[in-house]
Amino acid sequence: MSAEELIALEDRFGAKNYAPLPVVLSHGRGVHLFDVGGRRYLDMMSAYSAASFGHRHPRLVAALERQLGRLDLISRAYHSDNLGAFCEKLAELAGLDMCLPMNTGAEAVETAIKAARRYGYERRGIAEGKAEIIVAENNFHGRTTTIVGFSSDPSYRRGFGPFAPGFISVPFGNAAAVDAAIGLNTAAVLVEPIQGEAGVIVPPDGYLADLRRICDARGVLLIFDEVQSGFGRTGRTFAFEHENARPDGLVVGKALGGGLLPVSAFVARHDLMSVFSPGSHGSTFGGNPLAAAVAIEAMRVLQDENLVARSEQNGKILRDGLAAVAHPAVREVRGKGLWCGVELDPQQADAKDVCLAMARRGVLTKETHASVIRFAPPLTMEEADLRMAIDVFAEALNECVARGQPQLTPVADE
Ligand code: PMP
Repeated sequence: MSAEELIALEDRFGAKNYAPLPVVLSHGRGVHLFDVGGRRYLDMMSAYSAASFGHRHPRLVAALERQLGRLDLISRAYHSDNLGAFCEKLAELAGLDMCLPMNTGAEAVETAIKAARRYGYERRGIAEGKAEIIVAENNFHGRTTTIVGFSSDPSYRRGFGPFAPGFISVPFGNAAAVDAAIGLNTAAVLVEPIQGEAGVIVPPDGYLADLRRICDARGVLLIFDEVQSGFGRTGRTFAFEHENARPDGLVVGKALGGGLLPVSAFVARHDLMSVFSPGSHGSTFGGNPLAAAVAIEAMRVLQDENLVARSEQNGKILRDGLAAVAHPAVREVRGKGLWCGVELDPQQADAKDVCLAMARRGVLTKETHASVIRFAPPLTMEEADLRMAIDVFAEALNECVARGQPQLTPVADE
């Protein structure tokens, strides 16, 4: 089938809850993706950070194959011989005590919400049913009805209510607003250390450390959602390390599955995790032997290939290179590590048009909202490829601005 026919087939039988670029991929290897016509693309998206190790990393594929050769899924009705090692490695990496494995990021966020509420009732004396969690405006934590209920993006919420109460939203990046919102019923503060889907929004320096200090002073749990920012993306193993602001609970996902499987987890201090008792929470697939095998290897690859330091170094090259494009249509280049958002002036260029023009030149990325282009390449990418992507961005931007008249086409992303 041709690319057009494959897209038509997907359109005919698949729900239209995404607006993908018209590229039909059939192969991937390392930092490259290949379409059905055999055309090669540089991947500057990494599946929203889930493919941070590149595609089909040989060590990750080997780990999965080894595990497939001996044990697949058993559910949590029994013990497996690698779940303990997975939880140990993840807890150590995060500097926390215990893990509760799930599959998708949203499930791990739900786990964090359950943990925080129960901790509030059982350990802090909050009246049953009254626990509140403070979140940030423009957050993205996933797609469950509870989670979209505290989103500030109407496209994520419209028609999906009624929503769960108990969430208070305050401006992102403003620690004083969090302090002011804390009351007797506040169980936790839940934020992304850098907001990803909102457009790679980096909070002011000191925000994370201030949150840690405020939560300690007020006796409130601090929970960071590092589903997208974790595992080296920002030039630290976890973004909270930039300000030495270790949370009480950490939500991880995406890259933990090595780009091969959905693997997520809630990681926490012992006293917080101990609110869970048998039967109180679970997942058929969470922590399954295949997931555990891949996740252990992913964490080893992160360390063995020095990907955190590479993210920091190459991230600077990427940001500096994008900033040096210095096109009048570029309003801001921001980010940390190999995670960058380029904000365009919507009067001059539409982000989706620029992404399309980049795809035509063999570089894949994706807009978020109408005006931001995100760059989140595999952490394994070499400098020469990053420089090529920067050049392609400059060419694509020139083409779109020269063509003029951007059509504003906001799309619900991720
Ligand atoms: N939290 C954050 C910060 C995310 O970026 C995402 C996904 N983009 C999620 C949670 C949800 O993860 P998933 O799509 O695996 O449910």
